[in-house]
Amino acid sequence: MIEKLTLYDYGPVPDTKGLPGVPARITAQHKERYELVCPDGPARGRLKTGAYYAGEALFPTVGDYVTVDHVENGECRILRTLPRRSLFARRASGPVPKDQAVAANFDYVFILQSMNQNFNLRRLERYLALAWQSGAAPVVVLTKADLAAEPAAFLAEAERAAPGVGVHAVSALTGEGTERLAPYLQPGKTLVFLGSSGVGKSSLVNALAGEELMVTGSVRETDSRGRHTTTRRQLVRLSSGVLIIDTPGMRELGMAEASEGLENAFADVESFLGKCRFSDCRHEREPGCAVRAAIAAGQLDPARWESYRKLRAEARDRDEQLRRKREWSKGVAKANKQRRKGPPD
Ligand code: GDP
Ligand code: ZN
Repeated sequence: MIEKLTLYDYGPVPDTKGLPGVPARITAQHKERYELVCPDGPARGRLKTGAYYAGEALFPTVGDYVTVDHVENGECRILRTLPRRSLFARRASGPVPKDQAVAANFDYVFILQSMNQNFNLRRLERYLALAWQSGAAPVVVLTKADLAAEPAAFLAEAERAAPGVGVHAVSALTGEGTERLAPYLQPGKTLVFLGSSGVGKSSLVNALAGEELMVTGSVRETDSRGRHTTTRRQLVRLSSGVLIIDTPGMRELGMAEASEGLENAFADVESFLGKCRFSDCRHEREPGCAVRAAIAAGQLDPARWESYRKLRAEARDRDEQLRRKREWSKGVAKANKQRRKGPPD
């Protein structure tokens, strides 16, 4: 007999004491329709009219915990989104730019790069910053170990770029190294994957699941009938109890408000900051510059310093853009209010 899975098979449930309704977790999203898992099993749901359209709250996304009113005929209304312990959001285009939640409440961000032309330290650093910023813990997974002549060289480079982060080389084809991912693959833990198309994400998920959950590139390429796989936004539960969020939005994640994430991703670089003779040191030719000294002494990799500077500048630009957009929409809101009230007399 197949037992019905309930909310309690989908990770630790946040406290909802004092709130109306019952807790549920969102397992899939199709535009404004949601699939959820409730305390007594799966259900479908829609947002309660009015509950989301007034405030600042982001619409719920896959992985979110929400409260819902009682389920009738397998349908419920989503009342509110509960606080998130981690989140990926992206900037949605439109007349007024707004953040859109992409995935929520995950424990680990698996950052995938394959050990060939796809391997790129700068991209790895971007993903690390993004992962730290999300609130979850990054894990670097170097894929296609069977193709690499010298996996150890890739490992060493990635470890240098990701201090304090687990770095693991695996092959989905031979299974080699996948056992090193076991500590993260605990029942009730939720994973997301970051990595460019073709790195072997689907193959790795299938290898971890022990079944063909996802269509891999080799099949996609040979599918001559031009059938395209449906766009999914879903949370998959492996029979081991591990949860995986797979949404297309993950591919387009920007670097909005990335500056916070930089601190963790570049803790080694930042340890040299604030030690220069001049507090406004630009770390160029100023005397007594601790950064230049560290580079000269071989304690700081100049390439790493360069990518830190670049990311820092981009993050600043983005924070500034964001600030201006907020000011702008505030201005629009105020103007609209004025107009409704009529001209001042
Ligand atoms: P995705 O686009 O990230 O989901 O990547 P896929 O899982 O679809 O894999 C892309 C291609 O790489 C496919 O042709 C896979 O067969 C191949 N591939 C994936 N993992 C491995 C691996 O560990 N070793 C080798 N040799 N090929 C792999
Ligand atoms: Zn300096």
